[in-house]
Amino acid sequence: MSRLLHRSAAGAPPVAIGGEGVELIDAEGRRYIDASGGAAVSCLGHGHPDVISALHAQLDRLAYAHTGFFTSEAAEALAEQLVATAPEGLSRVYLVSGGSEAVEAALKMARQYFVEIGQPDRRHVITRRQSYHGNTLGALAAGGNEWRRAQFAPLLIETHHVDPCFAYRFQEPDESDDAYAARAAQSLEDKILELGPDAVMAFVAETVVGATAGAVPPVADYLKRVRAICDRYGVLLILDEVMCGMGRTGTLHACEQDGVAPDLMTIAKGLGGGYQPIGAVLLSQRIFDAFARGSGFFQHGHTYMAHPMAAAAGLAVQRIIARDRLLNNVVSMGGRLRRRLEERFGNAPHVGDVRGRGLFQAIELVRDRASRAPFEPSRKLHAHLKREAMARGLMVYPMGGTIDGVNGDHVLLAPPFIVSEAEIDAIVERLGDAVDAAL
Ligand code: PLP
Repeated sequence: MSRLLHRSAAGAPPVAIGGEGVELIDAEGRRYIDASGGAAVSCLGHGHPDVISALHAQLDRLAYAHTGFFTSEAAEALAEQLVATAPEGLSRVYLVSGGSEAVEAALKMARQYFVEIGQPDRRHVITRRQSYHGNTLGALAAGGNEWRRAQFAPLLIETHHVDPCFAYRFQEPDESDDAYAARAAQSLEDKILELGPDAVMAFVAETVVGATAGAVPPVADYLKRVRAICDRYGVLLILDEVMCGMGRTGTLHACEQDGVAPDLMTIAKGLGGGYQPIGAVLLSQRIFDAFARGSGFFQHGHTYMAHPMAAAAGLAVQRIIARDRLLNNVVSMGGRLRRRLEERFGNAPHVGDVRGRGLFQAIELVRDRASRAPFEPSRKLHAHLKREAMARGLMVYPMGGTIDGVNGDHVLLAPPFIVSEAEIDAIVERLGDAVDAAL
């Protein structure tokens, strides 16, 4: 009997004992293609020898030094690497242990920034419905998934949710992309005006929505419009690229494809590729200067922030992605994955949409393709599908059962950047069989 409180109280999942390339191996010797990179984490796959030797070398030198006393070579080198490849204007790095911690830190940075520059009335955070920003209380408050928030609502800070940009669900049939982008962005401007522009501090959004809606990219120009609205009212733009960032969509940062740079950006998951827990906030010089010239410090901190082992993992993973030009493979294998999904599910009665960017793709399952009506949540389709996929040696990331009564069950695919053509084909074949079996 397992003494762990697992994600499901019903029992323990299989025990993973090893990993090799795109596969994980359980204690029974069964192999699973990791077609979701866990939860869009394992961008280099499993057991990468160069990451392992970098971690051995770091452990031999230094495992830990508290950041209240020291910085470390690994953390400094990772920060250099991240700034060298950051969206325009993001010139400083704050290292933490994961995505939720990054979101918490970004929210507090935004707040402290306005306190430092003499605008303490700016306190409102605006985010979007059908979004996910993490499970700690601040990040959960920012998220727009009612199911995740409901029972914890009394503990959450006040946040304000506006429309997402989710074309499959909310774009009208006769509405152009441009008109839809304008309408979705307008809901942000309306909220800023309602709350009072001088009282709003930040707008938080996932560049490509991950876990809650399933690889939903914004329509063209939506983020440019959002950037312009934030600038008009002096609101900080926080882009959460914890899931969609660090190469997953084919560019290092997803927002590069939208021609937008935020004031603060959160990254994690693919940053360390699962070899160590690590996340980061990239922040603009303007925000850093406000701290430096003001109180002199950011009033935050965690015991394990900028951990040398985690930084060494992040550095090794990012150097390998650059050295091996893996983003080219993300683009070409992402294209193949999309084509294969469209071929397999293009006419499937219960697949309403195939969407995503790069190696970040999803299918949305619907009861009725024409009306786009989701399956009843009580059917727990996503759980059945996960079981059927695992039985076929496939890890996918299904979510849903109707999120906020809007979207249906979806299956997220985020295979490692090293995935081959044959592995892409195997993923789609096994997924097709699992979907047929689950329905
Ligand atoms: N933000 C986004 C967009 C995420 O997808 C996630 C996790 O899925 C988080 C934040 C939280 O990250 P973590 O689970 O590492 O705390």
